[in-house]
Amino acid sequence: MKTPPKSTAGLDHAHVWHPFTQMRDWLRSRPVVLVSGSGATLTDESGRTYIDANSSIWTNLHGHRHPRLDAALRRQLGKVAHVSALGFANPPAARLAAALARASRLPKAFLSDDGSTAMETALKLAHEHGRRTHGDRVRGRFLSMQGAYHGDTVGAVSLGHVGLFHRPYRDLLFPADAVMSPYCYRCPFNRARPEPGDARAYRKCQWECVGKATRAIERSAAKGKPHVAFVYEPVVQGAAGMVMQPEGWLPRVAEAARAHGLLLVADEVMTGMGRTGGASLFAGHNQGVVPDLLALAKGLSGGYLPIAATMASQPIFDAFLGEYAEFKTFFHGHSYTGNPLGSAVALESMAILDTAASRRQRARLASWIARDLQGLWRHPMVGDVRVAGLVAAVEVVRHRTTREPFAPRERMGIRICEAMARRGVLTRPIGNVVVVMPPYCITKPQWGKLVQALDEAIEEVGRAHP
Ligand SMILES: *Cc1c(COP(=O)(O)O)cnc(C)c1O
Repeated sequence: MKTPPKSTAGLDHAHVWHPFTQMRDWLRSRPVVLVSGSGATLTDESGRTYIDANSSIWTNLHGHRHPRLDAALRRQLGKVAHVSALGFANPPAARLAAALARASRLPKAFLSDDGSTAMETALKLAHEHGRRTHGDRVRGRFLSMQGAYHGDTVGAVSLGHVGLFHRPYRDLLFPADAVMSPYCYRCPFNRARPEPGDARAYRKCQWECVGKATRAIERSAAKGKPHVAFVYEPVVQGAAGMVMQPEGWLPRVAEAARAHGLLLVADEVMTGMGRTGGASLFAGHNQGVVPDLLALAKGLSGGYLPIAATMASQPIFDAFLGEYAEFKTFFHGHSYTGNPLGSAVALESMAILDTAASRRQRARLASWIARDLQGLWRHPMVGDVRVAGLVAAVEVVRHRTTREPFAPRERMGIRICEAMARRGVLTRPIGNVVVVMPPYCITKPQWGKLVQALDEAIEEVGRAHP
């Protein structure tokens, strides 16, 4: 596609390499150039306004250009943009750490930049804690989940089990074991979540997935090589396709892991900060599971700046205490650790989350999400409509009864999202799964427009593909 050379699109086509993007396809199409935002909407350079239906890849909470977040940033800019955490403290970072400790019941915050660095920090802490408390000989592997995604740095990819992202880097990665993910819709044992009206599909769930996870934990322990830690995305596995765990799965597996001395490492980069609803800001806490290490990023700053936190328990922190020359120090850090701008906006975002107005807004959105997507079942290609709090996903399939997926070359998810974009709604699919998770502040009319665009897009793509 020819784009004028000095235009944003032209400069982008000439020089920007986009993440997770086949750049040949990208160069063939005219990019949507986003120049501003307000609330749950984004505006392109021609003045067209869209609904930000995936919260700018799962980051935004309270909307774009939120007056309180903007003001908090400006206030901090009036003081200083950045100072180093190597050897110095700063007020926003200290206050953010305290607020996160209060909310998570984990007393220590190691601040960093993004989800990958938060997980990299967590896995190094878990590894080193295991080595120090159990000695070198009994150190085992990490246990994580099928379909797990924990970020793109080498350590985080090692913990992940998305074949497509994992395979190219195989030689660089350390081995980690995988347990079955409770993907009810594609469960090989039963069909615990049948589509409406198909009563035959339902058989009682026997928690086979919990049994498998428990046995994996027990086997390693019996061999004298217990796993270091169980690493998981609680309640929703995002990049796996918004795979949602049935109520009760996490407490069961966490109990088995604890019984064998594994640390619990929760990746709440996507689910944290209220995204899955409930009284706590954290999905796992709402299931009664407080981990030893907790990774936060994405929504931590309300979607404003890259800042992340790895929350740690007191025993983990204590394992790193010693005399200077013992070198028990945690040798890890980043130039922008504890960045005051990011910390200030994250702190303000947490204050907004704590208001009655925000709680009301979230409860309202959760009720719309639970109710208004049910109409989508009228489309034969809709195989599953999944909801967890303020996250929803629609999985399209070739055959509803057999649950046969569309082939990747059919680009079904992409085509539905393109049809939605033509109707003024932006989101991004994961394979055949369309993600719906707008900012918490979305208004009733905007929500109505989102649902209508999704409904019409599925209709349109379905007509082209009878
Ligand atoms: C996005 C994501 C990450 C990686 O975060 P980045 O900020 O993209 O590095 C890790 N874990 C989960 C669950 C995520 O959704």
